[in-house]
Amino acid sequence: MSESEAEQTDKQKYEFQKVIEELEDYRGSGTQLVTIYIPPDKQISDVVAHVTQEHSEASNIKSKDTRTNVQDALKSIKDRLKYYEVYPPDNGMVIFSGAIDSGGGRTEMITRVLESPPQPIQSFRYHCDSEFLTQPLADMLTDKGLFGLIVLDRREANVGWLKGKRVEAVKSASSLVPGKQRKGGQSAQRFARLRLEAIDNFYQEVAGMANDLFVEKRHDMNGILVGGPSPTKDEFLDGDYLHHELGDMVLGKFDVAYTDESGLHDLVDAAEEVLAEHEVLQDKQVMEEFFEELHDGERATYGFGPTRENLMMGAVDQLLISEDLRKDVVAYECPNGHDEYEFLDPNEETPEHTCSRCGETVEAGEREDAIDHLIELANQRGSETVFISTDFEKGDQLLTAFGGVAGLLRYSTGV
Ligand SMILES: [Zn+2]
Repeated sequence: MSESEAEQTDKQKYEFQKVIEELEDYRGSGTQLVTIYIPPDKQISDVVAHVTQEHSEASNIKSKDTRTNVQDALKSIKDRLKYYEVYPPDNGMVIFSGAIDSGGGRTEMITRVLESPPQPIQSFRYHCDSEFLTQPLADMLTDKGLFGLIVLDRREANVGWLKGKRVEAVKSASSLVPGKQRKGGQSAQRFARLRLEAIDNFYQEVAGMANDLFVEKRHDMNGILVGGPSPTKDEFLDGDYLHHELGDMVLGKFDVAYTDESGLHDLVDAAEEVLAEHEVLQDKQVMEEFFEELHDGERATYGFGPTRENLMMGAVDQLLISEDLRKDVVAYECPNGHDEYEFLDPNEETPEHTCSRCGETVEAGEREDAIDHLIELANQRGSETVFISTDFEKGDQLLTAFGGVAGLLRYSTGV
């Protein structure tokens, strides 16, 4: 992915995040809010047929209000689908439609279409409830990282991927390792030697599967998790069966009872803390650097005004935005040529403004989403945008103590 594509994705993720937050708050008085997840390989005509079918089945709904609302939602979805030809856009799309409670016993019909989510939609889903189904989309947005998964005991092994929050089983193997009980007539010594050989062969086979899958992806991977009962996973790791570069990427070994496909899921559950730690690792490193520069260097800037000014100068290397920040920005163009900006809460009214430099009363200009505004500037000036989680102390401080916006500069500007 090129740098500009990465920035585009950040902006898109932010847009999706905002829509999800809006949709999460909506409720229908009945089960009348419709959500449809459409995978990229699903033909639009199939979706239309499904929606038509649901529309006719909805005539059985007893409550007249709910029936009308569901049918209106489905009609609105069909109208939207007319804009697409054979297939949905890349990665698919999600449509939300329904009559939401707008207070005082009134309802309001809303329809939102989200095209091309950051990851492909896996399967078609039709969902009708009193809430919109936003979780699968939210999971995609928080998806960070690619991890290799290995589960094994002496009988079987599975390797696969953890892509964001999605577990993908890829390969499995079962062993010919004999049980501990030897057959009559065999010498104990010989039996033990054959058994160790079989175990060794099996570990080599498992490592071969993992190497085939992981080695070429190692630069895109965030780590490897290994699970299984003791002492199998320990023997496997201590025996250096894995390619040496993969061995260095093992983040931890975890007790997992099953080594079939379900074991891969158990492994991810068992590694929850390590994964959570990893998710904020990059954010932590960036914030550490910010605080070092703040105390002992000259490359830190923070607050909307100064960060924006540095962005305009092209001096920002990394633009840091708190994940939980939601602000608008209003531009004020003073007749004496002093442009100023104010940072406002989204539901705050645009206030009167007096130019801080000449005292002139200035009319409000364009009001827009502050984060869109900053990302746009960052893209134009070649600055990287990093969204910082609030799930660790210094990340939380970015939001609470620094206004949610900061920057690491390429050089000191004195602003
Ligand atoms: Zn002025």
